[in-house]
Amino acid sequence: MSEPDVAIIGAGPAGLIAAERLAQAGHRVALYERMPSPARKFLLAGRGGLNLTHSEPLDGFLGRYGEARLWLEPAIRAFPPEALRDWADGLGAESFVGSSGRVFPKAMKASPLLRAWLVRLDGLGVRLQAGRLWTGWDESSALRFANRDGTVETLRPAATLLALGGASWPRLGSDGGWQTALAEKGVAIAPLRPANAGFSVEWSPVMRERFAGQPLKRISLSFAGQRVRGEAMIDADGIEGGAIYALSGPLREAIACDGHAELAVDLRPDLDEAALAARLARRRAGETLSNHLRKAAGLAPVAIAVLREAAGGPLPAEPTDLARLIKATPLRLTGTAPIARAISTAGGILAEEVDAGFMLKRLPGVFVAGEMLDWDAPTGGYLLQACFATGVAAADGIERFLNKPSS
Ligand SMILES: Cc1cc2nc3c(=O)[nH]c(=O)nc-3n(C[C@H](O)[C@H](O)[C@H](O)COP(=O)(O)OP(=O)(O)OC[C@H]3O[C@@H](n4cnc5c(N)ncnc54)[C@H](O)[C@@H]3O)c2cc1C
Repeated sequence: MSEPDVAIIGAGPAGLIAAERLAQAGHRVALYERMPSPARKFLLAGRGGLNLTHSEPLDGFLGRYGEARLWLEPAIRAFPPEALRDWADGLGAESFVGSSGRVFPKAMKASPLLRAWLVRLDGLGVRLQAGRLWTGWDESSALRFANRDGTVETLRPAATLLALGGASWPRLGSDGGWQTALAEKGVAIAPLRPANAGFSVEWSPVMRERFAGQPLKRISLSFAGQRVRGEAMIDADGIEGGAIYALSGPLREAIACDGHAELAVDLRPDLDEAALAARLARRRAGETLSNHLRKAAGLAPVAIAVLREAAGGPLPAEPTDLARLIKATPLRLTGTAPIARAISTAGGILAEEVDAGFMLKRLPGVFVAGEMLDWDAPTGGYLLQACFATGVAAADGIERFLNKPSS
């Protein structure tokens, strides 16, 4: 194949969907990937059930991106959740809506979908070049790649898409190393920070040894006026899981500012305080407090342990005080898990650096998409949806750029 019209660097969901759209439009596309095989994070995402997108009404959906909504909205409206589901369907990965409204492929995994996708890309003539690390531009503004055999390759495509991901799980390929080359060109980047990450808690040795790895089910968490129902997982150093991730943005900011954050855990969100106190008032003679909490309040041993940690001494004897504590158990978070262990990355290339087609204003012909952009969202399918939608939007931007009559 001769020089490609378009070089796409980064074979994650954002880069792959852009490659598909551009190849379908008749462009010669080459895809460069540093790892020996493509889409490793996408494959990992499928391990716990690939949550492709979410079925909630679009207005609420767009609200999940906070301030970045303004920036992402045109791309997501142009490639909304239904379009993503139809696309997956077309690859034989029919999806379903789970009880939480989340959308999953029926196979739950990413691998069958990825296999079919790579076959389609190959059929479209997309040339995948694995083991190529992009290191920036040379003095003549050609793209520069370091190959595994130590050689250096340069390339001058008509257009380039950078879809290099964030910085979580760096062993899968995305390590945020792209920041150096872009910062040298004057591109403004918000610091990369862990998002959808766990937090440190100074558990007692008993808690750490006996309850690490156990889930706190059907709880509700409150912080800074936000309330989230779901699950969390105790680990030896702290706490993680879906409900925690949903609050990870404000919790991370509070810890950065004050050094700690106090989360309120409702261990029985389906019972109000008065009803709970009434149940707790009926304790049988001789019954241990743990048994009473288990039977009367329906608390699992791990929930009782969290309650005891919060009390830091004997639990209140009065049913009303005990009920109040169960409904708002304070949990002091003292740190954010490192970015290497986060689900996703906050921060990245600032919105004002790109035009409506996701082209860098400072580098005409260079486009950007996916998690390397400065947006943040909770888990629930919002991450992949934004990666796919910005990949499609960047492909459309490239298409317009390549078809522009030269002056
Ligand atoms: C454990 C886990 C579970 C997740 N589950 C879900 C989920 O269920 N639903 C959801 O919506 N999201 C989920 N995510 C997040 C989702 O996987 C990411 O948001 C998404 O993969 C980002 O896509 P991307 O194309 O922007 O970047 P990536 O998928 O990170 O792809 C970027 C690619 O660029 C390559 N690259 C980076 N630098 C270079 C370079 N210099 N030269 C060449 N190649 C380079 C990388 O190797 C990588 O292959 C999960 C993430 C994790 C870690």
